[in-house]
Order: sequence, then structure tokens, then C-alpha cells
Amino acid sequence: MLNFLKRSLRAKFTLILFIVGLIPLGATSVFFYYTAKDSLFKNVFKELKWSLEDVSGLVEEYFEQSQKDLLVASRNAAFSMYFSDQEGRAHWVREQQKTLRYLRTMYPDMLDEACFIEAGGKELSRIVFDEVSHEHDLSSDEGRSEFFIKAFLVNEGEVFQGKPVLSEDTHRWVLPNATPITVKGRKAAILHFEVTLTYFQRLLKKHINPDRGAAFILDGDGRFIAHTALDISETEPHPEAAALSSSDTLKGVYVRMIKGESGMESFSEGGVDYYIIFKPIEVAYQKGLNENRWSLGYLIPSDRIYVELDILKYNMAAMGLTAMLVMLLAYVAGNYVTKPIRSLASATNRVSAGEMPNVSVDREDELGSLSRSFNTMVESIRRRDEALRDMATTDGLTGLFNFRHFRGELEKSVKSAARFGRPVSLIMADVDWFKHYNDTNGHAAGDQCLKKVAEVFMKNAREVDISARYGGEEFAVILPETSKDGALKLAERLRAKLEEETVPFEALQPNGAVTMSLGVASYPDDAQDAQSLVEAADKALYKAKEKGRNTVWPPISEG
Ligand code: GH3
Ligand code: MG
Ligand code: MG
Repeated sequence: MLNFLKRSLRAKFTLILFIVGLIPLGATSVFFYYTAKDSLFKNVFKELKWSLEDVSGLVEEYFEQSQKDLLVASRNAAFSMYFSDQEGRAHWVREQQKTLRYLRTMYPDMLDEACFIEAGGKELSRIVFDEVSHEHDLSSDEGRSEFFIKAFLVNEGEVFQGKPVLSEDTHRWVLPNATPITVKGRKAAILHFEVTLTYFQRLLKKHINPDRGAAFILDGDGRFIAHTALDISETEPHPEAAALSSSDTLKGVYVRMIKGESGMESFSEGGVDYYIIFKPIEVAYQKGLNENRWSLGYLIPSDRIYVELDILKYNMAAMGLTAMLVMLLAYVAGNYVTKPIRSLASATNRVSAGEMPNVSVDREDELGSLSRSFNTMVESIRRRDEALRDMATTDGLTGLFNFRHFRGELEKSVKSAARFGRPVSLIMADVDWFKHYNDTNGHAAGDQCLKKVAEVFMKNAREVDISARYGGEEFAVILPETSKDGALKLAERLRAKLEEETVPFEALQPNGAVTMSLGVASYPDDAQDAQSLVEAADKALYKAKEKGRNTVWPPISEG
């Protein structure tokens, strides 16, 4: 993988795009995820605490307000005058009934029952729901109830608030409140009212969002007074909290709640993780005796806290998708950018292998112009190559093959002739009196003259023949597949053609024209290898000079 990365520009490009595009995006997302998670968590608990404060405040207010209202009602003259004004008792009873009705209107849906009971336990006036009792309906046995005894223990101006009891009249669970009525320093009666416990159930349900979690009130005996997630019967004993839980942590929390602690705890039950926060309900206005030690709890499944985090999770998923897209784009972009580079690289390899390839130019950017430049470069290398090849084989003055090329070709020709048992001939030619030409007309004219001679070779030799400038004013022609006779004929033609050729200043030459002498030798007749073939042809040329120049040696045999 690392190796691949080292070697592939495309892989690097992809990686760089990936790093540049994605890592900051990913890092910020993760950062935001965790900071959001953290603050979300804090916010949720803040919100829960507020709800908890809210509800506990309402319950506390209930205790406080009910005490005050009961005390205010108890100060109504109807209660004490009943004892001091013996004649007017029927009137005071009606007045008492008015006050009880008034209390009922103050606590609608809450006040199940209110009554006025004298010290002997006899009820003097009573209202149950909206119904005011007649005198003959009233019982005389209230003195037996535990709450009645306790109510007489608090002082004047104080209230006794007892634990929940099952009302004999309504058969519902109620919360009893009572205050003594003092006549001439003696506790003569109690004013008493009972509030239904369903009030607290309704209170919780009204204030707690069930989507968020469940809230409950736990009393000092570990029973649920109210619970937003439980149906609490108004007539049955309240459920025992610990009996409904399988979690030891939660049971421990209940114990702490009973002790009046506040706090937060997490636990799991039935495979669900929960958080619970709890605090005692303070009874602030404490004049008298309140037996109720209640605590408020709030339960929330932890996944509810993180509901909002799901949105963040979708964001993360979207991030992942973006990542894949970026990868794909990076790959495509990398491919697009590096494609001409890769084709240039392979074309360059082919150039060094001796080929001259062109790359396609299909874009206008820098890489496109690089491709164009590459093609131009290859073209000029190709031309230079050709020129070099030409220079290596060609004579600069005459355009005929040079000596070096001639030697190579002669070797090849003789070898191939030997292999196939075929003839090959060689003509050696030398311009006559050329020193004279040079001396008379100058070296530059001499060069022009040599060009003229070369043209004769070019025009008159066959295509397969190899004409070369052997040196100075000497020329040679290799004639493959040609016997001596054929070679002699060509030599003669060449000689004649030069003689006919008009050359500047030729009249000044000793024989009145620029001429040449030619010697011919053939393989296998005169020599067995290239070297001796040259020697033989050279010897023949020497002979031609000897015979008076402007001639071919040996002479063409007649017939
Ligand atoms: P012969 O008929 O015996 O061949 O007489 P010649 O004068 O041609 O013979 P020689 O070999 O004495 O002279 C050759 C001269 O050719 C000598 C040299 O100045 C001249 N020469 C050789 N190469 C060149 C060349 O490239 N250009 C010119 N202008 N002259 C050349
Ligand atoms: Mg010579
Ligand atoms: Mg000469």
C-alpha cells in the first residue's frame, strides 16, 4: 500500500484531496458531536431539575397554602360562637356550613370532605363533595380516629397534617388537615378537611412531559403517592416502590429519598438505562405537625436524553457519505489530472527505447500544453535523429555516401554475394588532372567541380548501386548482383557522361575537359573479399591512368 502510494501520483493526489477535504470536516464534526452531546446532556438535566423544582414547589405550596387556608377558616366566629352562644347554635351551624362550602369552592376537585368536630368526637357540621349533611346524618364516633387525637395535640393557630388515610365517607385515599378551635383557653373542637391524593397525581401529570420521562412522589413509608407512569388507585393501598423495582440501585435511591436526600443516579432495568434525579419536598411553612415526609423523583431513559443526538448521528452518517463522495471525486480528479502525466511517462519510456510516439492532446490546460510540447520535442528529436543518421553516412560536399558507409556496405555486399554465390562488382574512379584544376581555378571551383562529378554518379548509377565519395577526388560504386561486364558498361557510361558534362573552366584542363579514369574489379573473379576487391579495382584504376586517363580499365571485351 505504502509502496503503491510512493509510486502512484494518482494515489497521492487522492490521498491529499482526502486529507485536505475530509479530515478537517471530520474533525470538526466529531468535535461538535461531543461538545453538543455534552451540552445537550447538561441542558437536559438542567431542564429536568427545573421541572423537578417546579413540581416540588407546587406540592410545597399546597402544604403551605392549605395550612393558611385552614387557619383562616378556623378563625370564623361560627366555630367558637357555637360554644359561647348556646341559643344561637342552629344559626352558627348554618354559618359553619357556609364556611365549609366556601372551603370546598376554594379547593374544587381537591377537597373531598370538610367537617367540624367537637372534643367529644361528635360532628357538628360536614360537607362531603358538594353535599352538606343534615344534623341527624352526623356521626358521633370520630373521637376514635387516630388523626382526631393527634389534631388535638397541636396548639391553637397550628395545623396537623397527617399521613394519607382511607376516608370512611368517600372511600378514597385522602390527606387529612386539622386545626383545633379553642374556646376560653380550652380546645373545644377541631376543624378538619381532607384532600384527595389524586390531586397530586393530576398535578404531576400536568407538569411532567411524558415524552421526557416519569416523575413520582414517594412518601416516608416508601409508597408512591403519585406516579406519572403508574395508575394509582384512589381506593387501593398505594404501591410500595421497592416492590416494583428489580434494580438494587433504584431501591437504594428510594432509601435515600426516604431519608430526605437529594441527588442523581444512573441504573439499568429491563435492559434500559435510566437516569434518576431526586429531591425532598420541603415543608416550608411549618406551624404544627406535618407527618408527611415526601420526596420527588424524576426518571428518564438515557436514550430520551440523546434523542436530539440522533440528529447529530444523521449528520455523522451524512459525513460518512460525503467522505465516500469525496474519495470518489478525489479518485476521479486524480485520474483526470494524472492521465496525461501517465501517458507522457509511458511515451517518454518509448522515446528512450528508440520509438517516436505522439501523445494525444485533448485539453487546454498546463498539462495539455505539456503534451503539446512533448510532441514538438519528439518531432524535433526525430528530425535531428534523421539528420544525424544522414550526417553519419553522407558526404557533406557531394551528398553521396561517405567512405565509412561505403566500407560497411562493401563488406555486406561481398558477404551476401559469397553466401548466395552471386557476383558483385566495384568501380573505382579518380578525376583526371584535378590538381591542375584546383591550381588553375581555385579550391572553391574545385569543390563545385567535384559536385558536378558526383551528380554524374547520382544520375547514372542504378538505384541498387551504392555510389560513394571514396576520398578527395576519388569515387567508388558498389554494384550488387553485377558481373564484370555489367560493371564495365556502367563505368563506361559514367566516363562518357562526365566527358559530355559541361563543367566550368573545363577548357583549361590538359585534355580540354573534366574527365575521370575508372578501374573495375569483380567478386569472385578478381578478389575473394572486400579488401582485395578494393585493391584490385584500385590497380585497374592505376592502369587506366597509365593508359592515358579518361578511360576504363580493363577495356570492354568485344562481343
Ligand atoms: P591524376 O590525373 O594523376 O589523378 O592527377 P591529379 O592532379 O588529379 O592527382 P593528385 O592526386 O596529384 O591530385 C589530387 C588533388 O585533388 C590534390 C588536392 O588538392 C585535390 N583535392 C583533393 N580533395 C579535394 C577537395 O575536396 N576539394 C578540392 N577543391 N580539391 C581536392
Ligand atoms: Mg587522386
Ligand atoms: Mg586525379
